[in-house]
Amino acid sequence: MQPAAFSSPPRSAALLRAPRFPILTLDERKLTPALGYVFSKKWIDPCESLISILWKFEKANALPGHVVARLMGPDIDPYEGVVPQLGLIDIRRLHESLPVPIKTLHASLLQPTQRRRCSGVFRHCRRCMAHGYHSVLHQLENIYACPAHHRSLETACRRCGYEAPYVASVRLLEAPYRCAYCRASYGGQGWTPNTPQPMKAEYRKAFTRRYFECYFG
Ligand SMILES: [Zn+2]
Ligand SMILES: [Zn+2]
Repeated sequence: MQPAAFSSPPRSAALLRAPRFPILTLDERKLTPALGYVFSKKWIDPCESLISILWKFEKANALPGHVVARLMGPDIDPYEGVVPQLGLIDIRRLHESLPVPIKTLHASLLQPTQRRRCSGVFRHCRRCMAHGYHSVLHQLENIYACPAHHRSLETACRRCGYEAPYVASVRLLEAPYRCAYCRASYGGQGWTPNTPQPMKAEYRKAFTRRYFECYFG
């Protein structure tokens, strides 16, 4: 276990001083936010992918992608990245930084048994992207259209044609809701912490229903 890099101030004093979006102090050895960060599990929608959760975490805390990429595990090269799959990502380490239930992190990853049926490139629904949402279901190759919006899932950037590998790497994490090559938008502004819009009930149901069909049907 790593020793603490410094002693934290008393919680009440830290809260009094905390601005709405606190400036982070990084513990260089762990490269995780050591003082605190802004995040709410209410911002997460059903079947949301790890990439999507990490983009929200980045946006809420103004963190660069290379810091967030290091949350994946100590042995992972953040530039090479890692496929967001169960067994490859250190969920417990991630959970130390992200106040997201382990169960949710578990569901945000691809399952090894599905690996052959998962796309190796990032697939997205433009309407979901506009709300800053990407689902693990969008990565399943037997799903051609978004379960909520019924629009074809896309892989190539409309401007440059780049298909981003579905890998939690600095490159993908540095480009939330955008093409990682040319930075063209994937369909809108994406998510910001100032205006977190909950997903519509009918869309939540559509994703959840499809998730159970795929995983337990
Ligand atoms: Zn959609
Ligand atoms: Zn592009």
